[in-house]
Amino acid sequence: MREPRGSRRARARPQQAVSGSGTASSRFEAAASGAGAAGAELGDAAETARGAAVSSPGIVTEPAAGAEVSPPDAPKSPIRHAAETGVSSFGAIVQFLACPECAAPITERDRCLRCPHGHSFDIAKQGYVSLLTGASTKMTGDSADMLNARAAFQGSGHFSPIAEAIAHAVAGGAAETAAGGAAESSGGPAVLELGSGTGYYLAAVLDALAESHGIALDVSKYAARRAARAHPRAASVLADAWRGLPVRDAALSHVLSVFAPRNPAEVARVLAPGGTFVVVTPTARHLGELIGPLGMITVDGGKDTRLADTLSTRFVPLDRTPVEYPMSLGHTDIANVAAMGPSAHHAAADRAERLAALPERLDVTASVTVARYGLR
Ligand SMILES: [Zn+2]
Repeated sequence: MREPRGSRRARARPQQAVSGSGTASSRFEAAASGAGAAGAELGDAAETARGAAVSSPGIVTEPAAGAEVSPPDAPKSPIRHAAETGVSSFGAIVQFLACPECAAPITERDRCLRCPHGHSFDIAKQGYVSLLTGASTKMTGDSADMLNARAAFQGSGHFSPIAEAIAHAVAGGAAETAAGGAAESSGGPAVLELGSGTGYYLAAVLDALAESHGIALDVSKYAARRAARAHPRAASVLADAWRGLPVRDAALSHVLSVFAPRNPAEVARVLAPGGTFVVVTPTARHLGELIGPLGMITVDGGKDTRLADTLSTRFVPLDRTPVEYPMSLGHTDIANVAAMGPSAHHAAADRAERLAALPERLDVTASVTVARYGLR
């Protein structure tokens, strides 16, 4: 057994206060997670889109064959920030977590998460907890610069139609689940976002789901720090999504993967019966206008099909919602988009020069697919 980690005790945790007053999009920090480096599905190149002005996105839900369809307009849940800002978010989500060393249940005491076998994990002063195990310490994930660029881009609102579509997909699904009497963990929906980055999309989902709680999971400590402030009902966990998830079996109602890595076996394990896996992938048109001029990584058009294949042994497709719209981006936006995702280090050397050659404003396409899957 490895040595328990987290010997340093964090003295205090910053209040999880969030500006409840802003518009939904301004509250979001940013988030498409480029999620870290490792592994296959990770290369979701598109991840870079950031949004902008945005005319209304054409959202059309296409049911998969034989699948149920979410209602067109799921009711939005009230936002309840004010009453919750003083509450420790780990207090509510610790029931969903498992010890990353021995898989035992975890409890919180004195700003520290502990299992019965002596493993302990301090809550960092920035508000997140590291559940990375020794074997994964080589994973560092997205850099501070990438997270800063992502937060700036998401803060500009260019991706808010994507966040809204994800929230709609989850809230609509939750309404179905409730109507069908399917399982949901006590205390409301529990949502995990893999490769959560800043926590932007998770925050949108939590706003749309009353009584919900969220876990933002990312392998980047810079992401974990930002996600700790993303939403008063979210807790931030530093962990490697490619390894075992530090989450109890069948504990969650929803798992999200937005431009992020995913481990289907682990997602299936942590979802409760009736739970939903929401996967957002870029299409080949995503940020297409920037690919050539900025030397960005191209999106693999076959990715969608491969995704369905890798999920098919454990999941059944429910529906798919294409989200596509134009964004009017200035140079700052474009620089942020290029720096926030998988293209961050690609052709970065001459990016300033390439950027300078672009027109003052450029219409850039945002194009993703929001797909929902249920457990087999
Ligand atoms: Zn343990």
